[in-house]
Amino acid sequence: MQLDEALGLITEIPDFPEPGVLFRDLSPLFAHGDGFAAVTDALAATVEPDVELLAAVEARGFMLAAAVGYARGLGVVLVRKPGKLPLVAGRVHYELEYGTAALELPEKVVHAGARVAVVDDVLATGGTVNAACRLLEDAGATVAGVSVVLELAALDGRSALGGRKVSSLQIA
Ligand code: 5GP
Repeated sequence: MQLDEALGLITEIPDFPEPGVLFRDLSPLFAHGDGFAAVTDALAATVEPDVELLAAVEARGFMLAAAVGYARGLGVVLVRKPGKLPLVAGRVHYELEYGTAALELPEKVVHAGARVAVVDDVLATGGTVNAACRLLEDAGATVAGVSVVLELAALDGRSALGGRKVSSLQIA
């Protein structure tokens, strides 16, 4: 399947999770074997050759990073919501549109100096991916790039990520 056709499987859901928000639902894409494969291959091609490890943001990032990791022969570190990890290397709190959230990095998985690429489904305001990048950098790693399926340009997540390299398969 062509990448454009695969990306066309993403559907727009108005007023979710709250009124006024247009939610991009990747569920039909994940459920389509050829579509998922096309997106995995395209995302895998955005990861720099010197990357040693992928970092995935809970939860849809886990699916994408696992597939990309398999395609590229790379392992995955799971960046998780609080309360899931038995051994925590670090925690970062960040702002959401309403309220705050936090992410945690597991202990003894990311070594200082590692070149890590962050994988997620959607880059919106950039708060989530920026928090993941900060966790990795606090652990001494270098964020070699950020790879997402869909970037919502109006929310300018790239600015929140400073000068970090961002690759998106589709900009909406
Ligand atoms: P941000 O922190 O960039 O504002 O939001 C990105 C995070 O929220 C990502 O982890 C992503 O999974 C989720 N997210 C935000 N908006 C959407 C959306 O429209 N569709 C999907 N599937 N996820 C979204």
